[in-house]
Amino acid sequence: MPAPLPLRPELRGLEPYGAPQLDVPARLNVNENPYPPSETVVADITARVAAAVRGLNRYPDRDFLDLRADLAAYLAGESGADFLTAEQIWAANGSNEVMLHVLQAFGGPGRTALSFAPTYSMYPEYARDTSTEWVVGRRAEDFTLDIGPAVAMIAEVRPSVILLASPNNPTGTALPLEAVEAVADAAAEVPGGAVVVVDEAYAEFRRTGTPSALALLPRYPHLAVSRTMSKAFALAGGRVGYLAAAPEIVDALRVVRLPYHLSAVTQAVARGALAHADELLAQVDTLRTERDATVAWLASRGLRVADTDANFVLFGTFDDGHTIWRGLLERGVLIRETGPDGWLRVSIGTPAEMTAFRDALVEVAGL
Ligand code: PMP
Repeated sequence: MPAPLPLRPELRGLEPYGAPQLDVPARLNVNENPYPPSETVVADITARVAAAVRGLNRYPDRDFLDLRADLAAYLAGESGADFLTAEQIWAANGSNEVMLHVLQAFGGPGRTALSFAPTYSMYPEYARDTSTEWVVGRRAEDFTLDIGPAVAMIAEVRPSVILLASPNNPTGTALPLEAVEAVADAAAEVPGGAVVVVDEAYAEFRRTGTPSALALLPRYPHLAVSRTMSKAFALAGGRVGYLAAAPEIVDALRVVRLPYHLSAVTQAVARGALAHADELLAQVDTLRTERDATVAWLASRGLRVADTDANFVLFGTFDDGHTIWRGLLERGVLIRETGPDGWLRVSIGTPAEMTAFRDALVEVAGL
């Protein structure tokens, strides 16, 4: 008998997280931007990568202040957050890693992370991996956040980290600033303190008039807003996520990061992409229009559809969502089984992909 592996008991029998990666014509299951970079952007990023490769005998810039300054400038342009300095930005290999840094610094044994379901399914995994207790409240029936119960729960649970996705995954629901303010005010009353992270992975897709929580940063030193280049920015393969917050929060994240966690190649790719932000984001309006049309179409077919500020739509409800999902897959359309029972989520693709989705759904669900 081989000696047993001393796997942490809470990891026993678990499978790694991840959506299916299948080579089908319409891949609409992980909320990517369906438009690849142009050859001009490819050439510029490749030249920057080549320059980085010439120096790969050396470790990369550990503090990457140039990239952080570029990200601050991007946020100033995107959301009017022109008060952010490079020292207020943090970045890592995807916002998943940024959030892990948050839990490593502000969670841990004896502490609790709080969120409100249905929400992003990685949150409990960040908590588990950092031995942080995970507590989850419920969102309202329409997936908005009921402020009264949320505030009461914060007072009762006394979390050290509160995670709020806005727009939320898988529902697409964005939070009004009053909700973030109420949560941040309640967090300020938690003995020992609580950090509030507003996860704005999908922020660039928000509808006109929907605000970003970045505007609240000057008023709340315990608030952080996380973003990613994986979605609107069309750079999912580059693995770059980032966060804006007070320098004290960022400095805490710098303590827990592994040295040189962001490779010179990643930094070159990210800075190259940011130099072409306008072009990489050029399809965001097309995707928003296609999203709104998808919502209207699903509703016109008698389905329930969640209001969405993201590049995906949660719809249902089906007695047997799995059969619908499988039927779509058999027709070359991969969507996501996620969220509350009976609901399915489709990412917004190209017009041709959305036509394939609609045609397949009509056939499979008999709409
Ligand atoms: N937050 C939310 C709400 C997400 O949906 C995702 C990706 N599915 C992420 C964070 C992580 O994205 P990434 O690590 O690619 O930045």
